[in-house]
Amino acid sequence: MKSIYLFLLLLLCALTLYATPVLSVDAKTDAVNLSSHLELFVDKSAKLTFSELSSSTATLFHPTSAEKLSLGYTDAVAWIRFSIKNSTKKSLDFALELPIPWINFIDVYKIEGKHVDEQKCGSLSSASDSYLNSKSFFIPFSIAPEKSVEFYIRFSGEDALTLAPYLYSKKVAQKHNVHITLYIGALIGVLVVMTFFYLILSISLKDRDYFYYAFYLFSLIFMMGSYYGYNSQIFWPDAPLFNQKAISASVAISLFAGLLFSRKFLNIERVLPKFDMFLQLQMGIYLVLAILSFFAIEYHYVVIVTIALMGLYSISLFYISIKTWSLGVAGSGYFILAWSMSLVSSLLAALMGQGYIGYSHTLYYSFGVVTLIDIILLAYALVAKINTIEKEKFQAQKSLVEREKELARLNYQDKKKLEEIVSKRTQELLLINKKLEEISVTDKLTKLYNRVKLDKELLYALEYAERYQSPFSLILLDIDYFKSVNDAYGHLVGDTVLIEFANILKFSIRNTDFVGRWGGEEFLVICPKTDKEGAISLVKHIQTQIRNIDFSVVGKKTASFGVTTYYKGDTPTSILKRTDDGLYRAKESGRDTIVFQA
Ligand code: GH3
Ligand code: MG
Ligand code: MG
Repeated sequence: MKSIYLFLLLLLCALTLYATPVLSVDAKTDAVNLSSHLELFVDKSAKLTFSELSSSTATLFHPTSAEKLSLGYTDAVAWIRFSIKNSTKKSLDFALELPIPWINFIDVYKIEGKHVDEQKCGSLSSASDSYLNSKSFFIPFSIAPEKSVEFYIRFSGEDALTLAPYLYSKKVAQKHNVHITLYIGALIGVLVVMTFFYLILSISLKDRDYFYYAFYLFSLIFMMGSYYGYNSQIFWPDAPLFNQKAISASVAISLFAGLLFSRKFLNIERVLPKFDMFLQLQMGIYLVLAILSFFAIEYHYVVIVTIALMGLYSISLFYISIKTWSLGVAGSGYFILAWSMSLVSSLLAALMGQGYIGYSHTLYYSFGVVTLIDIILLAYALVAKINTIEKEKFQAQKSLVEREKELARLNYQDKKKLEEIVSKRTQELLLINKKLEEISVTDKLTKLYNRVKLDKELLYALEYAERYQSPFSLILLDIDYFKSVNDAYGHLVGDTVLIEFANILKFSIRNTDFVGRWGGEEFLVICPKTDKEGAISLVKHIQTQIRNIDFSVVGKKTASFGVTTYYKGDTPTSILKRTDDGLYRAKESGRDTIVFQA
């Protein structure tokens, strides 16, 4: 008996569970996520109609979770139903929002008592039927005092089926609509302004990086437009079919543009040449997919492949960012941040689309914010790269200037050094020349002037005497019996005696006189401005000195002198002949004698 009661109780529970869930609303109700107040029925045959469903006694509908309301890509038709009861004594105005813009067909059946009102919306519905007063689908309705309204909604389409009904009071619906419009306006605004900004930059700076970035931003305008549904309102309002195909095309083109920009920016061609080939292959596939979106009969598959490739795209970009960052490529740090954020957000979007995460407005709208942060980070990356290039340029210029300075300094030092060396060499050369000149006019043994110098000085003395009518005299000295010195003591002793004679002469003459070795053991003294008397007095002085000195080894030695003075018209030969004659006569007269030859 007890078990029968339990069975009846369970049956009652089951019956209440499978009746249309009722949401009670009043004047304070402003926003309700209907996900937890509805029942779901997935019609795999896609054939059942509203009248068949509403009249069916079978319990086809089941309560469900928010996650189950995302069906992903399916050929099935999804039905939801719920009931809303006005518990007040006043009529209330509400709006039902179906926020996902890419669902192709949405049929809304509103049941009030026996009256059924059918409304069609969805991206492929014709505009006249649709309640498209914003980018998402809003269905306004009123509920009479203490009455209920029941909804049956049918969803179908080739893109991911995400059923996310929301209920708003009229006031909140308007506010919510304004917020969404502002949000999307700001999103498009930023993208359009940045696209133009970077396009102008690329033209004025002739930098391809900026152009690719502008192209990527441009592609995002349409990609975001697909996601948030404004493309069909702004760009091609009268082409719902084209809009549907443009969804997957715009995704594929934005993937293409993102890779194009990142590859060029991070210089993957040179840094990771092998991986670059893989990236180029991906780019090719994206282009083909973009084209196929418009022409493929099975659009459905193109969408699935595109979504799958989004994962590959995000992982590839994340990989090249990390890799180039480790290689120190400028700006790659910002890329890591940007692409890891986009990796996470597209992963979340994919999980939501496939029903692994329940739909939420926050998640849905955060995709745009993340994209904005991404493009700002990428703009930072551009700045970082330019900064690095500028810094490198500055460094290069600085080191160039420094090198030039160093070169100039070296040149100056070299020049200085060279000048020093040259001046030193010149000094040395002058010294050598002087020495050479000295050597050329000096007798090697006695260090007196040699015959060459005597000839020159004699000529000069004659010219001087002639021009200024001034006297000058000549003395020729010959050592007596010198041969016997050599014979008795050898040449070396002879040499020493010659040197000693030379020294006597050197110290006996006056500063103005010249003495030199005339040859063998003969010496010539030129006495400028000296007359006969002066010459004889000098020669006597010399003779006395010789007589007084004890020569080494040999002891006493004497010499004979031939003396003459200048006469007008004298030549070197004539004046020398007279001294020679004088000397000859001195030898003749017994040596150690002075003979003046007039
Ligand atoms: P006189 O009194 O007639 O002048 O007799 P002398 O021996 O001095 O004259 P002579 O002309 O016969 O000899 C000169 C000698 O001087 C011959 C030569 O060997 C020597 N003689 C010449 N030049 C040098 C020299 O450089 N060194 C030495 N040791 N002897 C020299
Ligand atoms: Mg002689
Ligand atoms: Mg002699």
